[in-house]
Amino acid sequence: MPMDDDGRIADPGFLPDDAEYEVTLRPRVLAEYVGQEKVKQNLAVYIEAARKRGESLDHVLLYGPPGLGKTTLAGIIANEMGVSFKVTSGPAIEKPGDLAALLTNLNKGDVLFIDEVHRLSRSVEEVLYPAMEDNGIDIIIGKGPSARSIRIDIPPFTLVGATTRAGQLSAPLRDRFGVIFRLDLYSNEELARIVNRSAGILQIDIDREGAVEIASRSRGTPRIANRLLKRSRDFAQVRGDGTITLDSARHALEKMEIDELGLDSIDRLILNSMIKNYNGGPVGLETIAAAIGEEAITIEDVYEPYLMQVGFLSRTPRGRMVTPAGYAHLGIELPGGSQLTL
Ligand code: ADP
Repeated sequence: MPMDDDGRIADPGFLPDDAEYEVTLRPRVLAEYVGQEKVKQNLAVYIEAARKRGESLDHVLLYGPPGLGKTTLAGIIANEMGVSFKVTSGPAIEKPGDLAALLTNLNKGDVLFIDEVHRLSRSVEEVLYPAMEDNGIDIIIGKGPSARSIRIDIPPFTLVGATTRAGQLSAPLRDRFGVIFRLDLYSNEELARIVNRSAGILQIDIDREGAVEIASRSRGTPRIANRLLKRSRDFAQVRGDGTITLDSARHALEKMEIDELGLDSIDRLILNSMIKNYNGGPVGLETIAAAIGEEAITIEDVYEPYLMQVGFLSRTPRGRMVTPAGYAHLGIELPGGSQLTL
């Protein structure tokens, strides 16, 4: 089932439809944040230490695929530190002056969250360096030979940067983050806990099997789990008594064309087109993108991580390949029998 005009239902990115309930579903303290145990343990130590010293927390870089809880975690950091949370994003900061205005308006210890931090322009990044390192920004006054630079002090603050692609961050920026955490896709058990927690908040009736079913089709991503939960409730209300059970969850997911592993029609299109047109690979990312009419960057950030996680796609130096498990999942026989080696 297409999602109105808002995008695909299994898109881990933020869709306009998510806005109304995401705020209510966001955990506000570390104890409510499900999974990512190592990150949570270390973060708890850093937060407690910074609080004891009465200092602001070191700058934190969070990276990982969309929908895994980077914004949520940044908000939790601010909350646990007892400071304000300011949110912006790389593309939103167009000029160095925009960033200067943001920085000079911060209060001591505040958390400034910059989403898509890899998309900051070079000239904006240059304002950020002295701010992160020395609590100051350099402003150029005047033009030509009489131009001079003056330094303005800003309060100590914590920058939390989020990116889906740590590799694209410039080295000088990356080096200025004291703490770097990678968020991983969630296990089905963790996702079931998230589904149950969200159902409680949204007052949705769901039984254990229904929650497990939704979790196992959410491609390791809390944002998708929450979205499938909401959509499954719609089906359960129209078709039954409103309780999400194994049976009603299965029915809803089938209608949304999400298969038992969480793959949707576009995932299957990628695999099918690689098999049909390129014998299963190896084939380059750009070629796949052209064949299915998606952007290469979207395939790389959004579809590939999960297809690789379930073991249906592999990356080789010569390009992407569909694995034997990928063939099996689609019910297509391997070329030349099952002897294909990767
Ligand atoms: P990102 O910034 O990585 O794209 P978000 O922080 O916006 O992801 O998370 C998307 C949604 O998923 C949030 O609204 C939140 O409800 C839910 N979520 C994310 N991580 C967790 C978690 N660890 N525990 C519970 N809910 C989570």
